[in-house]
Amino acid sequence: MTDESRKRLTLFIGECWHEFPHGAEITLDPWYIYCLHCGCQKSNTKPNRTFTTNDDAHALVLKLEEKGMWRGFWDYAMYTWGENDMTPIAYCLFTYWLISNPARFCEMVNEFLEQKGGGDGEG
Ligand SMILES: [Zn+2]
Repeated sequence: MTDESRKRLTLFIGECWHEFPHGAEITLDPWYIYCLHCGCQKSNTKPNRTFTTNDDAHALVLKLEEKGMWRGFWDYAMYTWGENDMTPIAYCLFTYWLISNPARFCEMVNEFLEQKGGGDGEG
């Protein structure tokens, strides 16, 4: 996943995509390097999300539902990766497939947000 995609997903869930001044490490003690957006201290901040973990995928699930977008995502997922005329068992297996691999799930949410033309949740 590209940094652009990771940034889109990070902003979607309402967190800061931390960026620090280029080259600051060369001239400054890490203690004095701060995020350009939220002002957090680099030496005291977790790295930006990778969107490969269960925690990342779970955060996206919760935010999609919070923004009223889960149904839209589900429809998009079914249309894009599902099959026509699925049986209840096939729906069940599709759901398992959808959520069983966090990295793939995050990629799918990113694709969905890209198709919607944004990711800020306003669309
Ligand atoms: Zn930040």
